[in-house]
Amino acid sequence: MARIVMKFGGTSVADLDRIKNVARHVKREVDAGHEVAVVVSAMSGKTNELVGWVQNMPKVIGANSPFYDAREYDAIVASGEQVTSGLLAIALQSMGINARSWQGWQIPIRTDNAHGAARIMEIEGADIIKRMGEGQVAIVAGFQGLGPDNRIATLGRGGSDTSAVAIAAAVKADRCDIYTDVDGVYTTDPRIEPKARRLKKIAFEEMLEMASLGAKVLQVRSVELAMVHKVRTFVRSSFEDPDAPGMGDLLNPPGTLICDEDEIVEQEVVTGIAYAKDEAQISLRRLADRPGVSAAIFGPLAESHINVDMIVQNISEDGSKTDMTFTVPSGDVEKAIKVLSDNKDKIGYDVAQSESGLVKVSVIGIGMRSHAGVAATAFRALAEKGINIKAITTSEIKISILIDGPYAELAVRTLHSCYGLDKN
Ligand code: ADP
Ligand code: ASP
Ligand code: MG
Repeated sequence: MARIVMKFGGTSVADLDRIKNVARHVKREVDAGHEVAVVVSAMSGKTNELVGWVQNMPKVIGANSPFYDAREYDAIVASGEQVTSGLLAIALQSMGINARSWQGWQIPIRTDNAHGAARIMEIEGADIIKRMGEGQVAIVAGFQGLGPDNRIATLGRGGSDTSAVAIAAAVKADRCDIYTDVDGVYTTDPRIEPKARRLKKIAFEEMLEMASLGAKVLQVRSVELAMVHKVRTFVRSSFEDPDAPGMGDLLNPPGTLICDEDEIVEQEVVTGIAYAKDEAQISLRRLADRPGVSAAIFGPLAESHINVDMIVQNISEDGSKTDMTFTVPSGDVEKAIKVLSDNKDKIGYDVAQSESGLVKVSVIGIGMRSHAGVAATAFRALAEKGINIKAITTSEIKISILIDGPYAELAVRTLHSCYGLDKN
């Protein structure tokens, strides 16, 4: 007997037939004698629809400001998961399985107060463990918890992955299975590069980079939690026949295992390519080149919760003036420019220029630590395709390159093939 947490994403619960199929996956594990808890997302497209309604409400009223209350955002967008958890409970009950839906506040899954992007602080696992012991399958609504203000808080887009891993950690599950619409983690997004290969295993650090650099197959925070709490996490497909051979394999289920790097025998230099669309670049021209300038720029941006990513500062020719360029998500450009102009006197720059619609492509691999020339290979390959590089950042295990939006797919494919990641 094992204890398993199974998470099903939006496309896996997109309609009643898919929910029926999900119920068959759950039944397989229950019939095998395992203790099971399930986490579900909203039906695919539902959360986007709800977010759209929230954003449109002030416009319909004709309000001066597009801003809305984050607590009400959470009250609205968390509703999608409430529906699917109830539907899956009914499906399982109809199959003769003892199942019950649970909302985040009922567990409770305690979060911090950052409505819209809350972090899980604590999960009381004892009650779920007791119910599992009594043979009940808990169907938990993903993406939501209870804030310190006793209101529903959501965990940021893609947050059901994090709900699942956090619950797996809380109940000390033997395994956390993230079921989605692809059969594992690939060397790059298989929708962009059909030659992408499925990885049997990927190290936590690499998956963390892949996720934070744009591969949305797992929410970043879920990978952090899996790494810290050593949760054995698999990414696998919900679309396969639930009763196909091997689907119920306890130790080696089909899919990709996220694990410690020591578990990976043959480590490639490059493991994967990720991309993030909708990046924007802001350049401050003719800045004073003196101590404190960076603090004057990035302090106020941070206070306004604007996520700054790549930063490039030029060396000034005469030691007095320089240029500073950095990237922010496209959606934050207007806000960032406003913050900068509000602080223009303190910062001391001439003009602020911005460009949206850029893409960041990244090469990721633990093997880079011990190999030289990985970056040069990328630069050469992109140059051969005539792709211009706007900014570069590197760390021990990744290289990120900023390029013009229209070249995104070509760049991903070029990098994928130049490191020999294409299948055969
Ligand atoms: P879910 O709704 O199940 O949470 P998501 O849409 O959030 O699913 O994540 C799955 C998607 O992630 C896949 O359909 C795929 O297009 C995308 N993806 C991006 N990069 C990768 C990758 N390296 N490996 C697998 N899938 C990836
Ligand atoms: N339904 C939420 C979203 O679309 C959470 C999730 O699917 O993980 O972001
Ligand atoms: Mg997801």
